Amino acid sequence: MTPRTTDPSAIAAHSAHLTEDRLAIRGLAREFAMHEVLPVANELDSTGGEIPMDLRDKMGELGFFGIMTPEKYGGLGLGVFEYVIVAEELARAWMSVASIIARGNKGEGSFPPHLQDRMLPASARGDCLEAFALSEPGAGSDVAALTTRAHRDGDAWVINGQKMWCTFADGADFIRVFARTEPLDPAARHRGISSFIIEKERGTLPPGVHGNPVRKIGYHGWKTWELSFDDCRVPGEALAGEEGRGFQQAMTFLDVARVHTAARAIGLARGALEDSIAYCHQREQFGRPIGHNQAIRFKIANMATEIEIARSLMYEVCADIEAGVPCSTPASMVKLYASEMAERVTSEGLQIHGGAGYTTDFAVERYWRDARLTKIFEGTSEIQQRIISDALLGRAS
Ligand SMILES: Cc1cc2nc3c(=O)[nH]c(=O)nc-3n(C[C@H](O)[C@H](O)[C@H](O)COP(=O)(O)OP(=O)(O)OC[C@H]3O[C@@H](n4cnc5c(N)ncnc54)[C@H](O)[C@@H]3O)c2cc1C
Repeated sequence: MTPRTTDPSAIAAHSAHLTEDRLAIRGLAREFAMHEVLPVANELDSTGGEIPMDLRDKMGELGFFGIMTPEKYGGLGLGVFEYVIVAEELARAWMSVASIIARGNKGEGSFPPHLQDRMLPASARGDCLEAFALSEPGAGSDVAALTTRAHRDGDAWVINGQKMWCTFADGADFIRVFARTEPLDPAARHRGISSFIIEKERGTLPPGVHGNPVRKIGYHGWKTWELSFDDCRVPGEALAGEEGRGFQQAMTFLDVARVHTAARAIGLARGALEDSIAYCHQREQFGRPIGHNQAIRFKIANMATEIEIARSLMYEVCADIEAGVPCSTPASMVKLYASEMAERVTSEGLQIHGGAGYTTDFAVERYWRDARLTKIFEGTSEIQQRIISDALLGRAS
């Protein structure tokens, strides 16, 4: 069999959204991902190692933490297209690295006015990265059920409660935590939640916060924490934005978060596809490369097709976001489709690798484990289905 191409992007549909500038950014991100991120991921993921600081520094130099940050704050001043293009390339190597760019990439309004001039440029450089503490043991899909409380004490706020799944709580430079500042109103549970920015020393948890890393099966490269806030005292200026508007703030960037997750899912699926194509040529059974078997060839065809579908929808949702067109339902659709697709495609990729796929010697198992998570975080598949069906049928009673 003469290899036609091992690069699926060579046969990808041409998208009018991919301008020369965007193709150049994609090329830069691809080069970085394949040469700087992939070898590190292959070495560190299976041993639970953390994303190295020098890799983060290089990403900062390339501007990956400030793609969407306005130029006047030191960012690249680009849009959501460039953001997802970079995220897809990074996820093709290591999803955690594609995820860490979301801990920067803030825009105007991400920080309250008194912190913006200081924190936004630092965020764009990668020097001021976020951990996001919204989920709780009893508040996952139902975030309005959160019970962490913050009360005023003089000029300060005192926070008490339990948070769950706070990724990067230790490595970040600040934790954005959501807490009730008014008692729960059962008739309007999303009201009375506020957000706080707790600045801290990198590598530590803030005073008054204790925790343990969760024993997770993937998404390595950084830790995900269970946190306990015990009389955690923060200055009055830690209140981010208007008091009581935390739920709305958390929902503000949801469309961008969902296309970013779609990009991560697509990157993982592409990793599985590219590695599987290479394996089809390399592995011989019954005296010929396994890629001669139609059963394997058709898997490759389906994997490539599903990736193309997901990416096309992702670009259309990005176009809507950039045009300011309301698109929360299509954003849910692409998050749902891309993450379900990534699980299918990475699982097929693992199957093509046979027993080798079930070892940590091949990256396909990492793509499969990480793809599994894309169906759970940033709103589970079932929550996306609920949003989409509510849009079509009206809310269920
Ligand atoms: C590795 C990892 C990292 C994470 N990082 C962060 C982070 O940094 N910050 C943060 O705040 N959170 C984070 N999360 C939390 C993540 O967002 C939640 O896990 C997710 O929202 C689901 O909540 P849950 O796990 O409590 O599941 P649950 O809400 O308990 O859901 C359990 C099951 O019930 C289904 N279900 C629930 N409600 C409905 C409904 N109404 N209709 C149909 N089905 C429903 C769900 O789809 C799911 O299948 C992380 C999670 C993981 C696993």
